[in-house]
Amino acid sequence: MTVMVGLNIVIAGILGFTAALCAGASMGMRGNRPMSWLAVALAMGSVQTLVMTFAGGSWFEASAAAMLAPPAYLSAGRAIRALAPRPGSGLPVVAVVLGLSATALVLQAMGSPYFYQALAVQLACTIAVGDAAYQMVRRARRSLLDGVTIALLCALVAFSAVRVPLLLNLFGPEVTFTSFRQSWLETALLSVSGLLVPPIIFLLLARTVSDTIATYQRQSERDGLTGLLNRRAFDTTADAALSNGGAVIFCDIDNFKQVNDRFGHEAGDDVICTLAALLAESGHPAGRIGGEEFALLLPGQNVESAMELADDIRARFNGTLHPVLSPNEWLSTSFGVSYCAPGESPRAAFRRADVALYRAKEAGRNQVSAFMPNPDVTTTPSPRAAA
Ligand code: GH3
Ligand code: MG
Ligand code: MG
Repeated sequence: MTVMVGLNIVIAGILGFTAALCAGASMGMRGNRPMSWLAVALAMGSVQTLVMTFAGGSWFEASAAAMLAPPAYLSAGRAIRALAPRPGSGLPVVAVVLGLSATALVLQAMGSPYFYQALAVQLACTIAVGDAAYQMVRRARRSLLDGVTIALLCALVAFSAVRVPLLLNLFGPEVTFTSFRQSWLETALLSVSGLLVPPIIFLLLARTVSDTIATYQRQSERDGLTGLLNRRAFDTTADAALSNGGAVIFCDIDNFKQVNDRFGHEAGDDVICTLAALLAESGHPAGRIGGEEFALLLPGQNVESAMELADDIRARFNGTLHPVLSPNEWLSTSFGVSYCAPGESPRAAFRRADVALYRAKEAGRNQVSAFMPNPDVTTTPSPRAAA
């Protein structure tokens, strides 16, 4: 008995310590929601373990089980839900689970048979864990760890669901909380739950940490406005992508300052996003390397095919109807293309693409210019005038 008490205190301590770590990590990340929900779930688990240890079999334990167990599972489910980019509210599940918890407390206060309280609490737990398992199935990345988490959650759902039918079958509806709590059945069920819950919590923690790191890494590599690679990530990508040679396209929106001056910065941002979307659609690594300057990497391609693609993007952007412009006004972009030889530093190819871009501007804008030793190849300028 003393060993069990000691073990439970250690478990409660580990859960509480991990809850504090999650809360600290969440605050450090300015309110990371999955971490916050895990902290809540762990803190409730820690308190419930202590209550079970020191108030086992009492009415207080029965009330604590109703108040803590379903919300703890619910919080773990919220943590999984919060891992999704657009999590949705999930409020119906919250309302049902908390409603059942409250019902169990009311039934206890009214002195109704324990069986009905157990029914409400176990239903709440099964729905909360079931929702957590469902959320996990939706978010799974088909990794081994996600598979193990889902399997453990399903096992927990099953144990939660069979508790009441077992209770009814073996003890009948008149059983009291104290006698049920001290039975071999409840001891076995609690032991199995006690074995299942910690690995689930730590797997969820691992998933939350890896998701959070991946999110920060993505944010550190992406431009906030367009979602394209930022300059630093573009340079790093180029080193790997062009190691065996390839083409580089630089482009810059023509007379963009006028767009800002005439229609405002927000309209300018929309124009930037329009061009960025066209570049992203090409499927090649694309970066925003300056305010209205972009670049594309075409590994293994030559200057001619790069010019073809650049001219296609140029024509599509030039043909786009921008909401702020009148119907007879168009915007245009100038392009510079160069080749990066195998083993050459992409930086040298970038400088040549920049020179070619400058020449396209000099030659009248809305055209593609390639850096070639002699002579430069330049496409025919579009007949459409820029805005
Ligand atoms: P050119 O044809 O020679 O490229 O002329 P330009 O007007 O496009 O070039 P310039 O370099 O003079 O102006 C670029 C403008 O882009 C100036 C700057 O205020 C604007 N800009 C830079 N970043 C952003 C941004 O994120 N959003 C918006 N709306 N404007 C930006
Ligand atoms: Mg410009
Ligand atoms: Mg510019």
